[in-house]
Amino acid sequence: MKILLGGLHQEINSFAPGKTTPEHFKRKQYWLGEDMLRYADEYVCCDDDADVLSGSYTVLKEAGVEIVPGGFLGAQPGPAIEQSVIDDYIAQLKETVKRNLPLDGVVLVMHGAAQGEKTDDPEGDIIVAVRELVGKDVPITVALDMHANVTKRMVENANTLSLYQKYPHTDIWETGARAARLCLRILKGEIKPCMAYVQIPMIAPASAYTTEIAPFKGLMQKGHDYVKSGKLIDFSVAQMQPWLDAKDGYSSVVTVGENKEEIARIAKELATDLYAMRHEFRTELYGVDDIIGRAEKNESGKPVILNDFADSSNAGAAGDSPETIARVLALSSDVRGLMYINDGEFAAACREVGVGNKICAPLGAKFSTKLFAPVPVEATVKALFDGVMPFRGMMADFGPSAVVQIRNMFVIVTTQHRYNGDPCLYRAFGYEPTDFQMVVVKANTSFRAFYAPLTDLIYPAATKGSSTADLRSLPFKNVPKSFYPFSDNEFLPQVDVFEM
Ligand SMILES: [Zn+2]
Repeated sequence: MKILLGGLHQEINSFAPGKTTPEHFKRKQYWLGEDMLRYADEYVCCDDDADVLSGSYTVLKEAGVEIVPGGFLGAQPGPAIEQSVIDDYIAQLKETVKRNLPLDGVVLVMHGAAQGEKTDDPEGDIIVAVRELVGKDVPITVALDMHANVTKRMVENANTLSLYQKYPHTDIWETGARAARLCLRILKGEIKPCMAYVQIPMIAPASAYTTEIAPFKGLMQKGHDYVKSGKLIDFSVAQMQPWLDAKDGYSSVVTVGENKEEIARIAKELATDLYAMRHEFRTELYGVDDIIGRAEKNESGKPVILNDFADSSNAGAAGDSPETIARVLALSSDVRGLMYINDGEFAAACREVGVGNKICAPLGAKFSTKLFAPVPVEATVKALFDGVMPFRGMMADFGPSAVVQIRNMFVIVTTQHRYNGDPCLYRAFGYEPTDFQMVVVKANTSFRAFYAPLTDLIYPAATKGSSTADLRSLPFKNVPKSFYPFSDNEFLPQVDVFEM
């Protein structure tokens, strides 16, 4: 049995400065041909947060399938992708498909909230390109992030779509495995799934909900119960990436099953439930000065987390906000703190002066120039790194990096920004977050999976940034006219059912 596996995986923040270039992919995941298979085999992040590609790969391999590498491209979340990356990926994918026809099946692992310079639906473009070559009879099953913008083209052209069902995303590997298992079950003739799809005109800040607590927990449990009872084969609730300004951008519900009426009814029910809880998706914010004040008094042995989620690298922001350090300086605070900032210019200047020496230079705001101004700092260079180091189960490239001390704050300065929600970022540079009174974490809800076991002193900060929770402050242009939180209207769910 021959199944193609591959995909393009990136989450876009339409409000982040700059664009995502081929270099950004090459620095993270640009795996074509045999390379893809090798990395899929090796790439396991950590126990419950492993890679989606690896999940699909493992299931297919264990089933004795011949896996055709369709190529896998992944980059750190960021601004819209240079169109050539998407066009080149689709061109090589089409060549690979043609060379390997007839294929028995296709499994695609993607994010779902990508955006190119000329397309708002790269994942739809990819699925359609493959469908046109393999025809209607070859199953295409797809794994996506819970923050996907699931478009009608994606549902029309795939046999199944399976999104992460947990947030924080602790089921990434499992979602890849789900998509692969569905493909195998279709091929064995065990299931003949249809999909029901409902678009929901709303977005919610990613800091404002988790599947661990009500109300979202109850909604997801309802879906799981329908799967357990056999009424559904699979289900997904997409809370669209809230900083994606895309034409036809929607949150959505996708249900998978064999009874068309039943899956349509359940999709409508779950979509109605999600819209009904929209007002409950709110983030309680704390002022930066207030959080610093709490941290100064913190002798608990657990760090106060200043959650600067508005500058979240994982939500596509540039990770270059100097807001916290500016307030520490303005307050003349001696809080013992740890923070991270993306500023290659500053890191290069540290290299010039060398370890143990003083540097006076502006810090931060090298990308988000419309949001912040660089902060003049006097710092001591504590350490320098070439930036290539083990991070989340594989080698990562942070680019030339430095650690500097500003008052009592230890600041990791990198040239490439990476996921900041896992304490292993600080550990990679030799610092243990629990040794500090205050740790700045630039991530949305995802970080709670890693930081909640260390501390309960977590404070979402009222900071500025491309991934702010104040969605109405952002210059959305493309979302539909009637769309929460920009307007708050009655929602009459329309269900579409698709059958391959
Ligand atoms: Zn997500």
